[in-house]
Amino acid sequence: MDTAEPAHADVVIVGAGRAGAQCALALHKEGFAGSIAMIGRETEPPYERPPLSKDYLASAKAFERLYIRPPGYWEEKGIRLMLGTEAVGVDPDARQVTLFSGERIGYGKLVWAAGGEARRLSCPGSGLAGVHVVRTRADCDSLMAEIDGGARSVAVIGGGYIGLEAAAVLTGLGCKVTLLEALPRVLARVAGEELSAFYEHEHRSHGVDLRTGVSVSELLGEGHVSAVRLADGSVIAADMVIVGIGIVPAVGPLLAAGAAGQDGVDVDEYCRTSLPDVYAIGDCARFAANYAGGKIMRVESMQNANDMANCVAKGIMGRAQPYRALPWFWSDQYDLRLQSAGLAIGYERAVLRGDPQTHEFSVVYLKAGRIIAIDCVNAVADFVQGRKLIEAGACPDPVRLADPEVPLLELLAA
Ligand code: FAD
Repeated sequence: MDTAEPAHADVVIVGAGRAGAQCALALHKEGFAGSIAMIGRETEPPYERPPLSKDYLASAKAFERLYIRPPGYWEEKGIRLMLGTEAVGVDPDARQVTLFSGERIGYGKLVWAAGGEARRLSCPGSGLAGVHVVRTRADCDSLMAEIDGGARSVAVIGGGYIGLEAAAVLTGLGCKVTLLEALPRVLARVAGEELSAFYEHEHRSHGVDLRTGVSVSELLGEGHVSAVRLADGSVIAADMVIVGIGIVPAVGPLLAAGAAGQDGVDVDEYCRTSLPDVYAIGDCARFAANYAGGKIMRVESMQNANDMANCVAKGIMGRAQPYRALPWFWSDQYDLRLQSAGLAIGYERAVLRGDPQTHEFSVVYLKAGRIIAIDCVNAVADFVQGRKLIEAGACPDPVRLADPEVPLLELLAA
C-alpha cells in the first residue's frame, strides 16, 4: 500500500502548452505567492505550436526559437515543471491528480490545460508508416525526416488551416502536393465562400492538386504508405500522408472524474468547470462564446489559450473577470498573411473590400446589419480597425464598407 504523503502545489496545471504556460506566467505577473506545478506529457519545456506548420516545417526557424521562455526560466521562477509525464486521474474529493507513474499530487486549484490530440484517420491503412499528423515537435520532426530522406509526393488530408499551411510549405520545398478535402470547399468551417475560393485558387496556382468533395476510403502500402484510395476508386500515389482533420480534446481524466462536457470540458464565463476549484482553458475548454451569440463551442487559437489563462489567473487571485475577449487568429500561406477577428458563424452577408487578385483585401461578415467578423489578407489596417468595429457592434453602410478607400474606423460611428 502506498502510504507516502502525496506532493502538493497550491496550483497544479495539467498541460505545459500555450494555455498552461500562460497561466503560470500570468499568476506570476499577478503576484501569486503560492506554489505552482505544471505537468506536461511532452518532454520539451513549453513552446509555441503555430510555427510547426510554418517556419519550423520550412526549416526557417530553429526549435530553440519556439520556446515560450528559455528552458531554465520556469524553475528560476519557482514553477515546478514535471515533463514527460501525464495526468491520468483526478480525484476532486481528495483534490489530487494521479500521474501515469502512480504518483499523486494534491492541489488547491487545478487548471486543466491539456489541449488535444491530433485526430487520426480511421480508414484501413491509417496505421501505416509515413502517415503523419502535425501537433507536436515530435510529429513535425518525423515528417521532416521523411522529406529529408527523399519523400517528394505528399497527400495532405484536410483543407483546414494546418493542412493548407503544410501544403504551402511542402510545395515551397519542391514536393508534389495533393490536398484532399471532404467538404465542398476548404476552410468551410471557419470562413466564407470568398475566402475559400481565394485560397483554393492560390494553392492551385502554386501547383497543388487540390480536390474538394472527396473522401478517403483507404491508405495503401506494404508497411509504409504508398498511395491513397478515394471513395470513387481513384488512387493517388504518395510517399507520405499528412492528416490535418482537427483534434480530439484531451479531457478523459476530467470527464471520468465527473466534470460536465463532451468534445471538451464545459466551463462557465470564469473558466470554471463543474468540479470545485477546477478550471479548464485553451483548446480543450467549451464555453458559451459571447461573440457567437452564446453558442457553446471550443476555440482553437493562441488568443483563446492566452486570454482564458489570464482570466483564470485573475480568478485565482480573487480578481475574477469574465472571459469576453474578441477571438482573433492568423494563418501564413505562401506570401499571404491572413488575420481574422470575430467568428463568422451564422452571418447573413459577406462584403468584399478590395480585389483578391491584388492579394490585399478583406471580407467582412454581417449579421442583422452588424459586423460580427472580418478576414483580412495582407490588410493589417483593416484587421486592426475591423476589430474595433466588431467590439463596438457597428452597423455600417454596406456600400461604404465595400470601398477599400474608406478606412474602417470612419464607419465606427455608423
Ligand atoms: P496545447 O498547446 O496543445 O498544449 C496542451 C499540452 O498538454 C500538450 O503539450 C499536451 O501534450 C499536454 N497534455 C495533454 N494531455 C495531458 C495530460 N493528461 N497530462 C499532461 N499533459 C497533457 N493558433 C493561432 O492562433 N494561429 C496559428 O497560426 C496557429 N497555428 C497552429 C499550427 C499548428 C501546427 C497547430 C498544432 C496549432 C496551431 N494553432 C494556431 C493553435 C494553437 O497552437 C493552439 O490553439 C494552442 O496551442 C492551444 O494551447 P493549449 O495549451 O490549449 O493546448
